[in-house]
Amino acid sequence: MPEGLTKAQKKNQKRKQKRDEQRPQTTAIVWLREDLRLHDNPALHQATQCGAIVIPVYIKDESDPSPWPLRGAALYWKYWSLKCFDNSLRGCGSRLTLRRGDALATIAQLAADTGATSVYWNRACEPWNVERDEHVKESLQMNGIQVHDFKGVVLYEPWEANPDDNAHRAGFGSVGFFRAACERLGEPSKPLPAVEKLKAPLLWPASLTVDDLGYQRMPVRKGGEVVDWAASIRQRWEFGEAGALRALDEFITSDASQKFESRQRFRADRKWTAQISPYVRFGELSSRLIYWEAKRRIGHNCQTFIRRLFWRDLAYWTLWKFPSCHTEPLRPQYAHQRWGTDAAALKKWQRGRTGFPLVDAAMRQLWAIGWMPNYLRHVVAGFLVEYMNMHWFEGFKWFDYTLVDSDVAINAYMWQNGGHSGLDQWNFVMHPVYAAKSCDPEGNYVRQWVPELRHLPVEYVHCPWEAPVTLLASARVLLGRDYYRRTIDDLLAARRNSHKAVIEVREGVGKPYVLACGNEKMQLPDGRWVRLITRIDYRMMAANPVTVQTAADAWNKSKRRLLDQMSLALADEQRIYHQSHPDADEEEKADL
Ligand SMILES: Cc1cc2nc3c(=O)[nH]c(=O)nc-3n(C[C@H](O)[C@H](O)[C@H](O)COP(=O)(O)OP(=O)(O)OC[C@H]3O[C@@H](n4cnc5c(N)ncnc54)[C@H](O)[C@@H]3O)c2cc1C
Repeated sequence: MPEGLTKAQKKNQKRKQKRDEQRPQTTAIVWLREDLRLHDNPALHQATQCGAIVIPVYIKDESDPSPWPLRGAALYWKYWSLKCFDNSLRGCGSRLTLRRGDALATIAQLAADTGATSVYWNRACEPWNVERDEHVKESLQMNGIQVHDFKGVVLYEPWEANPDDNAHRAGFGSVGFFRAACERLGEPSKPLPAVEKLKAPLLWPASLTVDDLGYQRMPVRKGGEVVDWAASIRQRWEFGEAGALRALDEFITSDASQKFESRQRFRADRKWTAQISPYVRFGELSSRLIYWEAKRRIGHNCQTFIRRLFWRDLAYWTLWKFPSCHTEPLRPQYAHQRWGTDAAALKKWQRGRTGFPLVDAAMRQLWAIGWMPNYLRHVVAGFLVEYMNMHWFEGFKWFDYTLVDSDVAINAYMWQNGGHSGLDQWNFVMHPVYAAKSCDPEGNYVRQWVPELRHLPVEYVHCPWEAPVTLLASARVLLGRDYYRRTIDDLLAARRNSHKAVIEVREGVGKPYVLACGNEKMQLPDGRWVRLITRIDYRMMAANPVTVQTAADAWNKSKRRLLDQMSLALADEQRIYHQSHPDADEEEKADL
């Protein structure tokens, strides 16, 4: 997909190749991490350009500094990502050398074994990885090995973007303040062409196999049976760079990209978003390529889609500024919020057994394929925080374990926002039933993931407890037997409870952080204070929640038609009776 080379460029390349052949051979190590791709890979590209023999390396870092090392579905994705990338490299006359151990010690040993004099990598953005990389860089340089590092993970690295005084005055919230800071730096650079050929050493250094790393290991039951929990993940996704490029291309050429500006992107029953997040997460797809391809091929309808990439960079920026935001509330006063502790209810949420079909469908989709659409992530996060009053950290941990695109920066950023304590506070609350009018208006998403409700008509598929018993019986649903009873009967009371918990913070320990306008303020690491946009419910200090979603017209109880046999028969009886007793209604009224 990156633009092809012109004739002149090809000629230059040939000349360069000749020059390189005459030069004394050097060897370069390319340390690959979350950038397993040939296209727009600055480290790989530059190592190739300098004519060196290239040793692409992946290290299972046994002193991984991340507080959230890869696990669950994301780790499984990484397994396939490595396998696919090794295959791609083999197509370029190279291969992936796999090692396990401390990153610095492993690279130093590999350099000694291969005679490599330089190491290339694309810079990570998580503070703990940046720190490790700095240490590796310093130590290698002290030992005479050159290090070349590049921007290759985001559009704008966290240390580049600086929100100006204007942003501080206007306040942080949403993504606009950050995007403005990025745009002052100019547009992202254009993606580099895919590497096609890599110079191989005469003898490859020893390597583990991808399987040796153990990322694909499945639990084994006592009797020896392997629990292959990833079968549906394999079925859903085409792993690796080829799958990534295909998914991006499919999205760009589909109707979905042209309609992304509209509310269609909220729909969960069809593929209305790009569904590329795991590829982006593991660097199988470069965000620079997405940016430029979207601009070039989607045209003026690409704005909302491109905005997504700024949300991503904003999450990294936030983690960079507040390295403990994956555990500690960004608005510190919310560390004192009162949360629920019902472990059984949490488990029901995790496993899609809340009795709210939309929530259950999304959580089951997540469990099955490691992914759910953005809109549904808001629905289930809202349900956990606003209705169950459970701490956002529980949601963060579950997503970290189950998402194939699990990314500590984005996951923490989004859950903090959902949990009231982030830079942004969602100015909406998704209702677990009414949200379906945007994302599942025909009920097909629920029917796919909660098949026990597949025979219910749309008027009831999102709220089976409201269906007449006769209808439930004809749809073969007995609540409590075939599908779960609701975990929360009174949604409004539940919301009032979590609303009150926030108001208690604002009236108590949080009072010094509340500005006269009702928004809250927060101190930045540089000591400055900034206004944070705060949800209207809290700004107003309202006794009850203000932001509410309403039902779809079609689900209005008075408009619901009963279509089961028994109800149709009863309706027929009623009609016949009324035809033969035209004054019956008046007589009944007189009886009241
Ligand atoms: C509670 C919660 C937790 C989340 N956790 C993660 C996570 O761990 N990893 C993750 O990649 N996304 C996360 N997201 C963001 C978002 O839901 C996914 O990126 C999106 O659903 C991916 O689908 P897509 O590829 O079709 O996205 P599209 O809408 O087509 O967007 C294209 C790309 O932009 C990026 N993007 C989109 N939305 C966001 C966003 N809100 N923030 C940052 N980047 C975004 C992703 O890389 C995505 O692939 C989370 C959202 C919520 C509400």
